[in-house]
Amino acid sequence: MQEIPLWYWLIVFFGLGACVGSFYNVIVYRMPRGISLINPPSHCPLCKKRIPIRYNLPIVGWLWLRGKSACCKQPISVIYPIGEGLCGLLGALALYAAAGFGTDLMQPVKAPETWANAAALFWLLLGAYPVCAVDCKYKLIPDSISVGGIVVGLLISLIPGGITPLQSLLGAVLAGGGLYLLGWIATKVLKKDAMGFGDVKLLAGYGALMGFTGAVETLLVAALLGILVMVPYGMIKNKATKAKNAPENEEVGQIPFGPFLAVAAPIMYLWGEALFALYINYVFG
Ligand SMILES: [Zn+2]
Repeated sequence: MQEIPLWYWLIVFFGLGACVGSFYNVIVYRMPRGISLINPPSHCPLCKKRIPIRYNLPIVGWLWLRGKSACCKQPISVIYPIGEGLCGLLGALALYAAAGFGTDLMQPVKAPETWANAAALFWLLLGAYPVCAVDCKYKLIPDSISVGGIVVGLLISLIPGGITPLQSLLGAVLAGGGLYLLGWIATKVLKKDAMGFGDVKLLAGYGALMGFTGAVETLLVAALLGILVMVPYGMIKNKATKAKNAPENEEVGQIPFGPFLAVAAPIMYLWGEALFALYINYVFG
């Protein structure tokens, strides 16, 4: 394993990402239709025939069949392989960023922390999509990503070189607990629900993956992104309701916060320290 070059592992990570993308395709199709994710096994939605595993391979299956189902020759949307390809690119990006952008592709991956960082970034990048999609549509954050992040963060902390298991555990407890406390205070002051418990669990997961400071930086940047996006959005929306003479009870406060956390997390995982140093330098000269 010491001598296998980076380009080979990038292909492996692309493949893993594409498999996750393929699983997302299944979820997006089945969940709203109330079909179980495992049972029945993969079948054609039109003629109900079983789909053999070789045609289920991400991207390859679609190309193999040239975009038409094997059973009844119906066109299969190109959206599916595109989604798988994007997820594959995110997977490869996770490893390439962890190895350091610009690393020679012929070099073997030597440092154990590269694997720890690659695994954490893989989780953060590929988890961002379901958090954004589900939080915007259903105003909740899937436990598989938030609570899953706590479990994955603790597991990754066992790889030497990254954060230690103690830092991971403290990160989850302090980040989650801190945000819960903030939400509790805000609820008392504003006299309305200010913070969803989903956000608390999600930030606890980021604490387990990045440590406490990483999670705090993520929270700050997410809040900043939230303000930058939501203030103009709120003004446009207010204008629209005023123009329509509609009652102004549509809460701008009911914005999902999860997507901002999910976008901020991988950015801060990679560049948090550098951005923080830049900020300190700017403020204190
Ligand atoms: Zn069919």
